[in-house]
Amino acid sequence: MTTPVWTPALLGTVVDGGRLRCDLCPHLCELAPGEVGECAVRRNNDGALETATFAASVQHDDAIERKPFYHVLPGSRVHTLGAPGCSFRCNYCINHRLSQYGRTPDVPWTASPVDVAAVVDGAAAAGASIGLSYAEPGLAPELTLALAERAAPVGVPILWKSNGFLTPPAIDLVAPHLFAVNIDVKAPDDRSHARLTGAPVGPVLDAIERFRAAGVWVEVCTPLIPGVSDTAAAQAAIARRIAAIDPEIPWHLLRFTPDFRMRRHPPTQPADLLAAATIGYENELAFVYVERALGADYRNSRCRECGSVLIERGIWSTITSSVADGRCAFCDASVPGRWVAPGVRR
Ligand code: SF4
Repeated sequence: MTTPVWTPALLGTVVDGGRLRCDLCPHLCELAPGEVGECAVRRNNDGALETATFAASVQHDDAIERKPFYHVLPGSRVHTLGAPGCSFRCNYCINHRLSQYGRTPDVPWTASPVDVAAVVDGAAAAGASIGLSYAEPGLAPELTLALAERAAPVGVPILWKSNGFLTPPAIDLVAPHLFAVNIDVKAPDDRSHARLTGAPVGPVLDAIERFRAAGVWVEVCTPLIPGVSDTAAAQAAIARRIAAIDPEIPWHLLRFTPDFRMRRHPPTQPADLLAAATIGYENELAFVYVERALGADYRNSRCRECGSVLIERGIWSTITSSVADGRCAFCDASVPGRWVAPGVRR
């Protein structure tokens, strides 16, 4: 598919004389007829808000640890979809060939409309969840709701890997249909976040709180981006902000790798990941993870009460889990997470 297929979008408000405001993300674009929003995948078509995101460029099965979710259905599989478009413009984005559609001239449209029934039925037959990832699933509430309508009766969970840049009405719309969300917190303050992404971090932190209040399991990722989140002060500030919401939110530290417009910066060194992980624990976070570079100790989950290894992980896999019905098998302490979903085989 070389051009988008536009379909009706939710969360549009008429503001005046044919202009529409899109209430999906805090950019709150006001669009005259014919105009496309900042994300390039929502538009005002003659007074009707439309989206190009009922589509996917990527569809494949993956380990849930790779999303990453560490406290959700360990060892299970996720049928993952990714579509073009993003509300951010990060210079380091490893998925820029998808996310920066409409913002950089050399990113073509690559998505085709999603067959909802085929996706859900396939996930149900495989005992998998459905994940929206790679660019920004928050731009696809319509697809999320359509998938959820068919997935809920057969017990297939819906997961997002998101930038969390959504308005409260958007969160309220999708949260009842999501099992878990992993949200990036890329910078400690509005100024540095805006320099990186083009948007403030405040709405992202608000989204974490709002999803949690709605009962959605939330984990957080922070990529260690040069000049933004690679200093001890920035990492401590981010860790404090997460801990202030809930110290039991799992915090994933991601290695920066040179890409897109940040190819001259070196990748994050293991010593810097170790220092950041230490800062996370010093600031009261209970679960700090690094997928690679620091070995199994930083992939495994330990019980906060008795210290036993609860979940032993390989790279992007779970080897053993001693969480039974949400409790430590050794001391019976409660373990925060989402450990059981109807219809998901482990
Ligand atoms: S989702 Fe897109 S069109 Fe809507 S407000 Fe955000 S950037 Fe603008």
